[in-house]
This record gives sequence, C-alpha cells and structure tokens, in this order.
Amino acid sequence: MNRRDWLKAAASLPAAALTGCAARTAKVTAPARYQGARKFARVKVAPDRVIRTVAGLRPYRPSGFVVRTQKLDHKIVVHNYGHGGGGITLCWGTAHLAMEQAIETGQKDFAVVGSGAVGLATARLLQRRGCTVTIYAKDLPPATTSNIAGGQWSPYSVFDPDKASPAFMNQFTRAARLANSYYQDMVGDYYGVRWIENYSLSDQPLRRGGGAPFGLDGLFPESRVLEKSEHPFPVPYVSRFTTMLIEPPVYLNAVMRDFLLAGGKVVVREFASLAAFLSLPEPVILNCTGLGAKALLKDEDLTPIKGQLTVLLPQPEVDYITLGPEGLYMFPRRDGILLGGTHEEGVWTLDPNREEAERIMQGQMKLFREMA
Ligand SMILES: Cc1cc2nc3c(=O)[nH]c(=O)nc-3n(C[C@H](O)[C@H](O)[C@H](O)COP(=O)(O)OP(=O)(O)OC[C@H]3O[C@@H](n4cnc5c(N)ncnc54)[C@H](O)[C@@H]3O)c2cc1C
Repeated sequence: MNRRDWLKAAASLPAAALTGCAARTAKVTAPARYQGARKFARVKVAPDRVIRTVAGLRPYRPSGFVVRTQKLDHKIVVHNYGHGGGGITLCWGTAHLAMEQAIETGQKDFAVVGSGAVGLATARLLQRRGCTVTIYAKDLPPATTSNIAGGQWSPYSVFDPDKASPAFMNQFTRAARLANSYYQDMVGDYYGVRWIENYSLSDQPLRRGGGAPFGLDGLFPESRVLEKSEHPFPVPYVSRFTTMLIEPPVYLNAVMRDFLLAGGKVVVREFASLAAFLSLPEPVILNCTGLGAKALLKDEDLTPIKGQLTVLLPQPEVDYITLGPEGLYMFPRRDGILLGGTHEEGVWTLDPNREEAERIMQGQMKLFREMA
C-alpha cells in the first residue's frame, strides 16, 4: 500500500482520484479565521533550528512482507522481513504470526537474526511463550533503520495493492489488527507511545465517510473531514484522524531492556552468506533482517526506498501531526520535530539529498508561516 492508498484509508483522498477522473487543482483560498477551542502551536521552521538530517532505507516489497516457514538444509527458518514503510507499525503483528509458526515446530530454543523493531518484537513474543532466545545482529539500536523511522502508527508504503495476493492481504489485515492491539498496551512514557491527532492537508476535495480499506475499519478513531472553520491550516481541504505515535529511540531501548531482563542473549555478528546464517547452533532461526534479507536470500522483490528526515529542535507544545500537502509530514517527538516525506526507490546511499532537504524546508516553512 503506497502513500496514496494510505491517505485513502484515512478518508482523505481527493474525490477525483477515487473516481479515476482527472484531478483539477483547486484554487487555494485564504483559510477562514480559525476560532476553535483547540489550540494549535505553530511549528517554528527555520534553518537555524535544524539539529540533524538523517536517512534510512525502507525494506520494501511490492508484494508485501514475508512471514513464512521454510526448511533450508537441516534448519527451519521462519522469515519475518520486508515491512517497507510500516515496520514500526506492524512489528508486533508480524512477530505474532512468526511466533505462531515458530511455536508449531515444537522447539524451545530460537535464534532471532536482526535487532530492529521486527527482530525485537519477535524475540519478546517467543520469550513470553517461555522460549530461550538469542538475538544475532550486525547492528543494534541505535544503529538500525528502525531507529530512523518517524514512528507514526500507520501501515503506509507496505505493499502495492496490484501486486499483493489475497493470502498476503489476510496476513496484512491480521497483522495490523494484532499490532494495534499490542501497542495499545504500551501507551505511556516507558515505551514512548502516545495517542495523537493527525491532520491530512489537501488541495483537492476529500471523500467523506466510507471507512478504511483492507479490513482496517475502527483502527483510526475520530476520522472525519473538517469544515474550514475547524482548522487553522492554509489548504482548502483537511481531514483528521487519531492514531498512535511511537518514538523509536525510546521504544527500541525499552524493548531491548525487556528482552535482556527476561534472560535474552545478544550476539553482535554479521552473516556474509546464507551458509553462515544456517550454521547457527539453534534448530530454528527467525529471519528478521529487513533489507539485509535481499543479499542473504537473493530476494529480488526486496528493494530500498530511501527516506530522509530533517529534525528541528523539540517543541513540546506541538501536539498534532500534519500529513501533506505534497507528501510532506511533521511528527512532533520528544527528541525533535521530524519533517519528512521523501521516497527514493532503488536508492542505496544514506547520504542526505540536498534537493529533498530543501523541498522539505521550503514546504514546511510555507505551511507554518501561512497557518492561521
Ligand atoms: C525516514 C523513514 C521514516 C519511517 N517512518 C515510519 C513510520 O512512521 N512508521 C512505520 O511503521 N515505519 C516507518 N518507517 C519504516 C521502518 O523504519 C521499517 O519498516 C522498519 O525499520 C523495518 O524494521 P526491521 O526490523 O525489519 O529492519 P531494521 O531496523 O533494518 O533491522 C534489521 C536488523 O537485521 C540486521 N541484519 C541485516 N542483515 C544482517 C546480516 N547479514 N547479518 C546480521 N545482521 C543483519 C541489522 O543489523 C538489524 O539489526 C520509516 C522508515 C524511514 C527510513
């Protein structure tokens, strides 16, 4: 599911795009003076407030993530990789599916390869079932892609609906529902998870009602299109929904702490080949290597989608997310205000793209300067 499908899920896709008609850009009018009771602190977007620019590679598969069991030589491998732009969102859900398959083997001793969001959630769920788990990984938090993620709970950019099979869609819907439920139990400072309002900003009319596709109805409370008088944003069309925001630096540390407190072992090790991977002593290996699975398994479907973030000084008073216009977003976290929304498919470098950084800065400066 790409960004457009995700906006559709949030009842915010322009009506023209839904009906397949050619989209006409609406004339941007000055926003009606916002006089509502809810206060919207303005994000201070300025070059001298930038504290870092970072990039990460989303492990994207157009046909969707892989959760399946495979016999390779004398080992059983349970794959759990390829979450695209939704690995933070879905990790507990796909971990649950992978854990079920691992438990079915009847073994009690597991190797989890990978220590990003997906590996950590998988390791914890196996521990909760009384199993012994060792994590093997080349990089530990904070050096994983999962640490770069923005952390909005939204299964966005996870698959291409034209390429996903019905069997995958069943796994996806189940994983999303499970993950949402696991995260609801983690809301609070310890895991760095909280509920937050999201505002989708568009220059085209929005669909009203209809719910979220792919069986995700009910996962985005308070979802509706707003009247102009209900928001301060300088765009003609705005919708709102509520979801969770996960702060990866806090969250990943907390889950790692839980894993170690429960007796888990961590071994820092890189697997340069499938043969080395299969030489692990444990009889069952959970493969949570994200983009690393491409080289290990020669998975041709797996491709990087580079995402870049410009991070501003924190503003604790900002208590809402903006999505759009033009694909840009703003997430307010304790470690900074995240400005993002870039997708460079097939790009492997982590070097910041200056043009994208400029597009983010200019777009967000305009948005918050013109906010009522
Ligand atoms: C800019 C940006 C914003 C994002 N925003 C969001 C968001 O808001 N919400 C959301 O849900 N998702 C978001 N994502 C997507 C999310 O970051 C990924 O889906 C997620 O990190 C994937 O987790 P993972 O555990 O599979 O992979 P990783 O975090 O990459 O972990 C992989 C692990 O496997 C190990 N490994 C790999 N290969 C080997 C090997 N050969 N030998 C040993 N170890 C190996 C690595 O060292 C690492 O420990 C975003 C991504 C980016 C880049």
